Amino acid sequence: MKFIDLQKQQDQHHPDGGVLKNKIIDNITKVINHGQFILGPEVTEIEEILSDYVGVKYCISTSSGTDALLISLMALDIQPGDEVITTPFSFIATAETITLLGAIPIYADINPKTYNIDPNQIEALITEKTKAIIAVSLYGQTANMKEINEIANKHGLKVIEDAAQSFGATHHQLKSCGLSTIGTTSFFPSKPFGCYGDGGACFTNDKNLAQRIRAISIHGQVERYLHKEIGLNGRLDTIQAAVLLAKWGIFEKEIKLRQEVANLYTTKLNSIGINSTPYIDTYNTSVYAQYTIKVKQRSEVISILKESGIPSAVHYPIPLCQQPALNNNKSPQSNGTHINALTASNEVISLPMYPYLTEENINRIISSLKDAIKLD
Ligand SMILES: *Cc1c(COP(=O)(O)O)cnc(C)c1O
Repeated sequence: MKFIDLQKQQDQHHPDGGVLKNKIIDNITKVINHGQFILGPEVTEIEEILSDYVGVKYCISTSSGTDALLISLMALDIQPGDEVITTPFSFIATAETITLLGAIPIYADINPKTYNIDPNQIEALITEKTKAIIAVSLYGQTANMKEINEIANKHGLKVIEDAAQSFGATHHQLKSCGLSTIGTTSFFPSKPFGCYGDGGACFTNDKNLAQRIRAISIHGQVERYLHKEIGLNGRLDTIQAAVLLAKWGIFEKEIKLRQEVANLYTTKLNSIGINSTPYIDTYNTSVYAQYTIKVKQRSEVISILKESGIPSAVHYPIPLCQQPALNNNKSPQSNGTHINALTASNEVISLPMYPYLTEENINRIISSLKDAIKLD
């Protein structure tokens, strides 16, 4: 059994005929033939499709989800010494990009039910140095962006939604990535909408910001060889755009399948007494980038699953407030205060999740977990 099976995805029927794999090969062949490997027509095409889908005016594709975050922070003029409030419970990139700019990540603890930043913890952390909030939409469900935006508006702060795991999810009927000043996502192969390498995108309704994001992603270039500011080489490859265009044909169907897999998991887990199944807020839908539960004796559970050939993963075992590489020593907070993030990092376990996970496999996972939780 695989944790995520991308090969099964390749065998799926594509609406243009044939299987996805052949559509991907056709699209890549077109790029090889036209030769515009950098910012070719496929890049513009996927940006238009994605901005329409998200419901924002501008999509700027990037070289990765990490670069999408970095470029967004640069476009918001985040300077050394500035404070950016974020969650302590995410992939390193969220706070790494803040730290790269010499700014300081300030962590607001998470809501233990959704694992996303708790809006109620934010306001007390705002100082005159605070410039922005990065909320992460973890495991496929958006953070409480509505409440976060309200706090940000009150204090004149910008809000980035790190939607690397939630592309396609909704919040009060609006699409993830289109919920705040800037939304960023990742097309890393295992994300809900993945390419075959690195890729990402920024989304915004603000024309000036969109222009700056675009310029920063091309070395700060505003016209050929005129560089108004320092940027980076942060573009999406045309070949990756071609892969995304092929996968776009099955994306909506895959979201539904992910939700079906998740519902099946939840019903079956609840029936064996595991109630730490994902909690989705009533105004949200999740794309289940991960299907994550909590268990007390996690390392034993992981080894019992492993013995039955079932892979699992931990997202994430060390909270950002305890990562040695980040500027945590400069943070006015002590490490131990984010109790919900600490508890989560000790107890969460993600189970295999992809649109084509069969009921038979789910049953195998459930029966193995049934043995494992006797220890709990
Ligand atoms: C994957 C991920 C990123 C980084 O995306 P890359 O494309 O791998 O650079 C950032 N934030 C979160 C929450 C992620 O899951």
